[in-house]
This record gives sequence, structure tokens and C-alpha cells, in this order.
Amino acid sequence: MSDQVRVSVLGATGSVGVSTLDVVSARVAGAPEFSVAALTANTSVDALAKAAIKARADVAVIAEASLYGRLKSLLAGTNVEAAAGPQAIVEAASRPADVVVAAIVGIAGLPATLAAIQRGNNVALANKESMVCAGPLLRQEAARTGARLLPIDSEHNAIFQVLDRPDRVEKLILTASGGPFRNASMSEMAAATPEQATAHPNWDMGAKISVDCATMMNKGLELIEAAYLFDVPEDRIDVLIHPQSIIHSLVSYDDGSVLAQLGMPDMRTPIAYALSWPHRMPLPGLQRLDLAKIGRLDFMPPDLQRFPALGIARRAVSAGGGAPIVLNGANEVAVAAFLQRRVGFLTIAQVAGEVLEDFLNSQPAAKVPASFEDVYDLDRWARVRTIEKLRLAA
Ligand code: NDP
Repeated sequence: MSDQVRVSVLGATGSVGVSTLDVVSARVAGAPEFSVAALTANTSVDALAKAAIKARADVAVIAEASLYGRLKSLLAGTNVEAAAGPQAIVEAASRPADVVVAAIVGIAGLPATLAAIQRGNNVALANKESMVCAGPLLRQEAARTGARLLPIDSEHNAIFQVLDRPDRVEKLILTASGGPFRNASMSEMAAATPEQATAHPNWDMGAKISVDCATMMNKGLELIEAAYLFDVPEDRIDVLIHPQSIIHSLVSYDDGSVLAQLGMPDMRTPIAYALSWPHRMPLPGLQRLDLAKIGRLDFMPPDLQRFPALGIARRAVSAGGGAPIVLNGANEVAVAAFLQRRVGFLTIAQVAGEVLEDFLNSQPAAKVPASFEDVYDLDRWARVRTIEKLRLAA
């Protein structure tokens, strides 16, 4: 294993970012010696400064430009440089690094993810919305610069770990816990609050992805992410409900073998795998999987009636072109509105589906996004449409 690994973490104050810094700071025998180039955040300026000082980062970048003064004063007397604004985040992603962890939430992470790839940095990808919106374009850029896309999303990381013969794959099988409403009735979901929707049974995550898990749009986005990352068509990707979140995903090969990756639900495992790839690094502090203690693993098909988001995502990826971008943009707006208590829980998938159908019946649907500008245009189109449909004040 390479002894020295230089890391940048985009979205360092979030759930994935904090887990990443935990792995990076562990300093255990057999692990690489990590050093930190850049850390970024949106508005959590105190947490960012604290993390940057602890990690001895070269630079800390806050997206919210008005917080530059605060960041600078928090970093005074240290060797950590301060920077602010969205462009500074893109520049941070372009700094030389062995691996850039893309852990900003939403399409807001795309410019920085792209910049890291264009610089030829390997990208440990958590920011699935980047892949959903611009998968083919990002892969094209990665092929041009030689950057590797190393999935951190636990399902894709599991597949990545067991994908030894991509040419012999029959099916990818994405597992899903079913989220907090796995057994909820429609009327319970109609009345669901943000607190209930973000209380995931197995994983501790940011608010947006937690709501996505509750609607199962997360699994839909993951399906699109998997189709683009592994170049497997949607009809060869299955979704399987597995409430214990122990099997993180499976690959079914044409000789009847099914390979899976198992582990406790802890993001530090896929993060460490991506950071130490193509090797493995020890994580001695992590709870070990004890299958005898767990006793049983359950599986069932997803309920597409109660969780229509999955079918909507399949429709988007099979339609191709700009459809996944539109679905993602509509979902981001609807989830934010739900978290602000402006719309009900069931409205999220409903409006995302309606905006997608409007798009597929519209003029822009004929156009395959050929540039990142096209991606941002379609995202804007979806956001405007969703805001109109939800009758939200812009
Ligand atoms: P969080 O909401 O916990 O963290 C998001 C991070 O991105 C924070 O550092 C936040 O900064 C920053 N950020 C948010 N908006 C912007 C913006 N406009 N510009 C710059 N920075 C921004 O999210 P998660 O860590 O849960 O998820 C991050 C990504 O990883 C998502 O795409 C998610 O789908 C994916 N993922 C997450 C998993 C998890 O276990 N959490 C598992 C698999 C994938 P600030 O703190 O200042 O708001």
C-alpha cells in the first residue's frame, strides 16, 4: 500500500465527511499515513475550522462567502489557509490529491466533483446526485484524465468490492433497508413529520438522504447511479428489501454464483475501502459482524404501491437523456419543501413523478445533455416546474 495518501474532503462537516475524517485521523498500524489538502463546508463555519485545525489541512473553504471573515478569524494563528465561495470550493477540489472525497449533498456537489475529475484526482464518490445528473459526462471526463471513480455509497461500494468479472454479470442486486416507513400505512405516511422521516432505523445520515430513504427515492437514485457507474442497464438491476442492512449489495454472475459484501452498517468501512483502494486498511475500532448473534437475515420485494419513487426512477433512467436530471432536481426541491413543513411526505414522490412526466412530454426531453451547461439548464427547468407545481414562493 502507498504509505502516504493525500485527501481532500468536500462536505467535511456532513455525515460522510465526519466519518471520513474519523478514518483519516485513526493512525493505526497498517493504514496509510493520511494528510489533508482541503476541507469544505457550506455554512458550518465553526465545525469546519475545528476539523481543519485538527486535520492540519492546507486550506478550509466555506461556500457561504459572507462567512469568510469568521473563518479567517477562527483560523488565525494556524497554518490553515481560509477561502470562501463556490468557486473556491471548485479550486479546492482541483488541488493535487490522491483522493478527493465528494460528500457534498445534491447537485450542488457537481461542479467540485467535476473539477476533481478534470484535475485527474481519484474521486471517492458519496455525492450520488452528481452521478445521477451527469453520470455519462463524468465517466467521459474520468476516462480522459485517468481519474478513478471509487464509490462510497455502501451499496455501490459493495458491488465494486465483488465485481471481479463485469463481463459475466447477469444482475446487480441493490439491497435496501426499507427505511423508517417500511411497515407504515399510506395514512401514516401522509401524516409523517420530518422528524419521523429522518429517523432511519440503521444509518445515521444527513437530512436529505434520510428523507430519500424514507420515500425510497434514495434507492431509485442509487439504481440510476449503479446503471451509470457499472454500465449495467436498469432492467438488470434488482432492488431487494433487507431490513437488517447487513448485506450491502450483491452481484449475480452467469454461472449461478452470487457474490455479496457483508458488514455492520457503518460508513467507515466503504470510506476506508475507497481511501485505501486498491488495498485494504485495518479499522480496529469498528464493531465486527457477528452473524450468530444477528441470527437471521430477512429479504422481501419492494412495495411499489406504497413507494412509487422506485418505479419513477426506473422510468427516468430507462427514458435516459435529461430525465434523471429532472427527477433529481424535482426531488431536491420537494424534499427541501417537506423538511420546511411546506408540503406533506407523500407529495415528494408525487410531484417528482409529475414533473418527470411533464418533462418527457415536453420539448427539452428530446435533447440529450451534451455538456455540463445542459445539465444545469435541465436542473433549473425541473426546479422552476416543481416550485410552480408546489405553489411555493420562490
Ligand atoms: P450532510 O447533509 O450530512 O452533509 C452535507 C455536506 O455538504 C456538509 O458538509 C454541508 O455543509 C455540505 N454542503 C451542503 N450544501 C452545500 C453547498 N450548496 N455547497 C457546498 N457544500 C454544501 O449529507 P450526508 O453526509 O448525509 O450526504 C452527503 C452525500 O453523500 C449525499 O449525496 C448523500 O446522498 C451521500 N451519501 C450519504 C451517506 C450517509 O451515510 N450519510 C451514505 C451514502 C451516500 P454544512 O455542514 O455547512 O451544511
